[in-house]
Amino acid sequence: MRVGLHVHVAGGHVKAVEHAKAVGATAMQVFSSNPRTYRTTPIDTGALEAFAKLRRDANLDPCAIHTPYLINFASADPKISQGSLRLLQHDLATAARGGMRFVNTHLGSYGTRDREEGFAAICRSLEAALADIEPGVFLVLENSAGAGNLAGGTLEELGAFVRALPHPQLGICLDTAHAWASGYEIDSKAGVDRFIEQASNQIGIDRLLMFHFNDTQVPLGASRDRHWHIGEGNIGFEGFRALLAHPELRDKTAILETPGTDEDDFRNMQTILAILSAVLSS
Ligand SMILES: [Zn+2]
Ligand SMILES: [Zn+2]
Repeated sequence: MRVGLHVHVAGGHVKAVEHAKAVGATAMQVFSSNPRTYRTTPIDTGALEAFAKLRRDANLDPCAIHTPYLINFASADPKISQGSLRLLQHDLATAARGGMRFVNTHLGSYGTRDREEGFAAICRSLEAALADIEPGVFLVLENSAGAGNLAGGTLEELGAFVRALPHPQLGICLDTAHAWASGYEIDSKAGVDRFIEQASNQIGIDRLLMFHFNDTQVPLGASRDRHWHIGEGNIGFEGFRALLAHPELRDKTAILETPGTDEDDFRNMQTILAILSAVLSS
């Protein structure tokens, strides 16, 4: 597996790439704009090309964009659902300009809305985004922790999106902390084997493009989205070892979104890379 981490680009692309490289990443994830507003930053092709060259020189590939958190394709408020679609389209265009392979997005919450109506609304937005997606970019839907009627909390529901949107550039990202919070017991080889078998049946292994590797301290099935340091939570070393060792996941990408400082990033990457190298040499 290619393993990397989410990096903040507020300090500039040079610093972001240097940090990712210094902690041993071979993949990375960024926000393209402020993750908490509907405003988008105009696309600066020159800056994106320079960023792509920095990543190539540092062997950081693939790179993912994580869309802003306030995206909600399921909202009954057209201002929110249309704003969400515009943000997604902006990130897909940015990824295409900047040679970034994945655009990872949350789906949103059904709120008080009827689930079927909300599901259909999400599909309409994603269909519109996929209609003008450029080659080389994949739209990746992330599983949720399942709280507050969030869409995409189960493998069954993610599978339903994949079946409703049969486009070759659509894929799925599984966040380990969210999966644990939704009740998937991925803290052992047996649990991970079961999880990946279910994912394979519901979604298809070829559609599974990315993982977010985050440990978590919340109880199994708690529906709470809290990320924690790798190996220091309930998923633990055994869970990540089983994921890294899984024969069907060898060509996948894993991105850490663990909390804390640059030193914490270094420690988390050291941990995951040590597990990976133990797996590769066994
Ligand atoms: Zn996310
Ligand atoms: Zn999360």
